[in-house]
Amino acid sequence: MNNSDNIYSLAVSGVQKLIPYTPGKPIEELERELGLSNIIKLASNENPLGPGKKALAAIQATLKDLALYPDGNGFNLKHALADKYAVDMSQITLGNGSNEILELVARAFLTPGLEVVFSQHAFAVYPIVTQAVGATAVVAPALNYGHDLDAMLQRVNDKTRLVFIANPNNPTGTLLDHGRLESFIGALPDTCICVLDEAYCEFVGDQGADNSITWLRQYPNLLITRTFSKAYGLAGLRIGYGLSSPQLADILNRVRQPFNNNMLALAAAEAALTDIEHLQNTIAVNAQGMQFITDGFKKLGLEWIPSAGNFVLVDLKQPAMPIYEALLRKGVIVRPVGVYELPNHLRITIGTQAENQLFLQALTDVLSGNV
Ligand SMILES: *Cc1c(COP(=O)(O)O)cnc(C)c1O
Repeated sequence: MNNSDNIYSLAVSGVQKLIPYTPGKPIEELERELGLSNIIKLASNENPLGPGKKALAAIQATLKDLALYPDGNGFNLKHALADKYAVDMSQITLGNGSNEILELVARAFLTPGLEVVFSQHAFAVYPIVTQAVGATAVVAPALNYGHDLDAMLQRVNDKTRLVFIANPNNPTGTLLDHGRLESFIGALPDTCICVLDEAYCEFVGDQGADNSITWLRQYPNLLITRTFSKAYGLAGLRIGYGLSSPQLADILNRVRQPFNNNMLALAAAEAALTDIEHLQNTIAVNAQGMQFITDGFKKLGLEWIPSAGNFVLVDLKQPAMPIYEALLRKGVIVRPVGVYELPNHLRITIGTQAENQLFLQALTDVLSGNV
């Protein structure tokens, strides 16, 4: 027997059919492919200002300890988060990015035969973690590109073990009304875990997003996930967290690796929480950039989906892939969203003022055939 394809048939059935997540194109890859320099990447919703000074100083101070294992319980970071949100440390689960929390919840609660409800155009990781453990994805059609909570609730039955909601949603940037969201969570059967993915909550203007934390007291089946990858500018370190009832956190904790968060990430995240100035700067630069880029779309006669995040989906009213590729040749990396059933849209991460200008100029050139 010498058939290497046979290996595929040995994988668990969900994995056999799994299409892996496609990340935004790395700058180095485009450099290698096209021999370009001065590339800008507005493709992965990273913080264009980079990490803050306090996080960098904490990393520097931690380097000397790298021969040691990190604190597997993440005491200091959990303590800081517990303080910030007025929750108990036992309600916090730290993850290698909030992505890991999404995987942990799937692994701990799903099995073939159980169902997971999420929305059309919702974050691409939900179908992946569902399929990897052989559970069944049930996709509710979107409403105006956002979550249709009624359509989602209609699809919840006694086999539904998880519901995923991204608020704001990636890639559409849509934001749910908090009152309606709470009613939805309250209407779920207690056999169903609700994962509320708040990767972009820091960008939501009012302090509305922190309402969700108060819901934890009433809903032991609620898991809120947040991250240091977006507004805090630490995507490269991989650190995020879940907030939930202590019981739900205990279950996630059972399936995580003992040292899933590295020492630099723990130290940097803790310091980043104290760097209010960097966070406020980030939010201000994002708000200005959002205005600038959407003004640019308006001048080009393009429509976009109003976004509560640090990115915006523009409707090109024509297949987006050729435009994406033409932008690449000009050294501008954005994100095609065909996998989200949005073949005519591109997702643009809001950059610095200089990056936003370069992007709009490149888009103007490409759309006018000047390529
Ligand atoms: C970026 C993102 C995440 C996860 O990011 P991590 O880097 O793994 O923390 C989770 N959910 C959504 C909706 C995202 O856009």
